[in-house]
Amino acid sequence: MDFLAAAAALTGPANVLSAPDDIAPYAVDWRGACHGNPIAVLRPGTTQQVAALVGLCAAEHIAIVPAGGRTGLAGGAVPTANGPPAVVLSLERLNRIRAVDPLDFSIVAEAGCVVQTVQQAAAAAGRLFPIQWGAQGTAQIGGMLSTNAGGIRTLRWGNARDLVLGLEVVLPDGRVLDDLRRVRKDNSGYALRHLFIGAEGTLGIITAAAMRLQPALKRVETAFVAVPSPDAALALFARVMESGAEVIAFELCGRYCMDVTARHGVGIRMPLPLVHPWYVMLELSAAHESVPLRAIMETVLASAMDAGDVRDAAIAESEAQRAAIWKIREDYPECGRKEGPSVTTDTAVPVSAVPEFLRQVEQAFAARWPEGRMAAIGHAGDGNIHVSLQAPEGVGRAAWLDRAADAEPLVNAIAVSLGGSFSAEHGIGQSKRHAMATHKDTVALDTMRRVKSALDPDNRMNPGKVLP
Ligand SMILES: Cc1cc2nc3c(=O)[nH]c(=O)nc-3n(C[C@H](O)[C@H](O)[C@H](O)COP(=O)(O)OP(=O)(O)OC[C@H]3O[C@@H](n4cnc5c(N)ncnc54)[C@H](O)[C@@H]3O)c2cc1C
Repeated sequence: MDFLAAAAALTGPANVLSAPDDIAPYAVDWRGACHGNPIAVLRPGTTQQVAALVGLCAAEHIAIVPAGGRTGLAGGAVPTANGPPAVVLSLERLNRIRAVDPLDFSIVAEAGCVVQTVQQAAAAAGRLFPIQWGAQGTAQIGGMLSTNAGGIRTLRWGNARDLVLGLEVVLPDGRVLDDLRRVRKDNSGYALRHLFIGAEGTLGIITAAAMRLQPALKRVETAFVAVPSPDAALALFARVMESGAEVIAFELCGRYCMDVTARHGVGIRMPLPLVHPWYVMLELSAAHESVPLRAIMETVLASAMDAGDVRDAAIAESEAQRAAIWKIREDYPECGRKEGPSVTTDTAVPVSAVPEFLRQVEQAFAARWPEGRMAAIGHAGDGNIHVSLQAPEGVGRAAWLDRAADAEPLVNAIAVSLGGSFSAEHGIGQSKRHAMATHKDTVALDTMRRVKSALDPDNRMNPGKVLP
């Protein structure tokens, strides 16, 4: 029996895709920047089928590239162009919520569950699954954990890693590591789950996760605020952090990004005129109805206005207005893509260094690419501002990348020099391996390589990713 027939015998023929048209969507990443050539796409429906397929691939010397919602921004879910023969193993059919326990404040979900589905299951039980970002309607739990995703609420509840209680993982040798525990305390040796979180599929395949839930938010206040500068935004940030309310989102958006979103977005309603250089999207919450959240928001904004740190502000008056504010933020990546090609980055600096980071990047871009357009938008509350350098109108992708590709290492170097990271929340995949080689501590790299060769000595799990 050949490989495809053997795989079909394990999963059913409908779940082994080998026709070029069926494979095509799995052969390119969301940005259209990374292209691969998988032998087939395998779609197991159970953990046991994943394990059997991993065993089959081992016997046939075929590499495995796990895929979730394929919204990753580092090319991790696509085989490398010149890599060894590989299949894409899509987790999309492992999409059951196995348990929701409101008393435990926990949920157990399979890797292929869409993040938004998990949010909805938690809400139905009166709980909050707090992670939130623009691709949550497509990204899956396995991808979220494998990239250690962040998003707009990292400042309050941390990254994906911080939500995890336990994992179920199929190891590269086909064994199932059953560490799907919901206990809050377990000091029985190494916390192995943390090896697989953020590993981008290079150490094994996550098949299910037990994750923490939070109490549902009883009150939320959301504001769209015009500020004169990133320094003023940070002064506002300090005020809201000291206000007594829980700050659950604090996003900083350059005017250029707002213009682009207004230009290309569908159904976008800007709460304020776009006449200021910077805007902040700010959300406060409280777990009890009695907290005077609106009064706190109004007081903070009024005092910031008196101090000159806020120029104008609109507070959402309804759930529809709140959703409209977040739609602006969430639609920006797609609108930026429509505006034209750009060199993108994903760095983080200490929160206090955000203004200096933006100043240095702006100066460096102006000196080397005065024709480029700088876009800056991101999670100011955790120091992760996504800066990109967009091509002038009419310049195509290949020509712009040819001219401005150096913008990415330049931004990485500025972030690192300010005590930051060259990879904040999107991971390394295949597109950031050069930055690992440049900036990652050599002892850390050596330790990672030892872990990789201990778990995956034949380098079959997502080869050509993460490690330079
Ligand atoms: C519009 C847009 C906005 C975004 N905003 C944010 C943001 O604010 N914050 C943020 O952090 N990210 C953001 N992202 C990036 C992306 O959504 C996240 O990286 C997300 O976590 C990827 O999940 P996915 O299911 O799409 O994973 P995929 O893209 O399918 O895979 C990502 C990596 O994980 C591996 N993988 C997938 N599933 C498994 C599994 N079960 N076991 C082992 N490895 C696996 C893949 O091999 C790959 O290396 C955004 C993306 C888009 C398109």
